[in-house]
Amino acid sequence: MPGWAERAAATLLPLSRATTLVAALREWFYTGRFFDLEARDGTCELCGQQDLRYHFEIENPGTTSSLLVGSECIKRFEITGIDEQGQRLDADATGKLVDRHRRGLVEDARKQRVMTALMRLGQKALDFDAWDFIDFVDDKGAFTPNQVAMIFWRLDSAGIAYRPTDWKVRMRRDSDLGQLRTMKPAAFKRVIAALTAPQRQRIAEIEARFAELGQSWR
Ligand SMILES: [Zn+2]
Repeated sequence: MPGWAERAAATLLPLSRATTLVAALREWFYTGRFFDLEARDGTCELCGQQDLRYHFEIENPGTTSSLLVGSECIKRFEITGIDEQGQRLDADATGKLVDRHRRGLVEDARKQRVMTALMRLGQKALDFDAWDFIDFVDDKGAFTPNQVAMIFWRLDSAGIAYRPTDWKVRMRRDSDLGQLRTMKPAAFKRVIAALTAPQRQRIAEIEARFAELGQSWR
């Protein structure tokens, strides 16, 4: 038995009715409750894995025990769950549900970091209306390249830390690309740091097309 299975058996068997790990696991289900610890300081109560940021709850109705575990353990041990309508799910569907819940937590945390940075900037720079932009995070989710360039410049100037990749940059419209094309090099560099890999690829392709014609895009 691998180490993690041994640790899981040691934890799970005293909290279950069955006497083997495989049978005991079938008594447990994923409750659909999950928690953001807001720091990577959580431990999986099943396998002992450390540095977890998100906890997912599993429960044994027979012994009324519950444990907080990592999403990987729910999949690895094929613990099943119930969907939002109360229907019993198989292990595959439960794995997908856990992944969806985890993605939701990651996305909420990302939005929270963006809002925190905007609020801090609003407190430091009185002419900056943070709420205008916070509404933007909620409604549309993505900023225009010019907005990102301006906000990053102001965050840098105010000495406020932020993760560029937390900020979604809109590149759907011609006007968005137009903004990227005409912005100053320092601003362009700031916005590039926020782009996703496919967005950077798209810029590289546009630049390559112009280069073939002996021109430069910017
Ligand atoms: Zn685990």
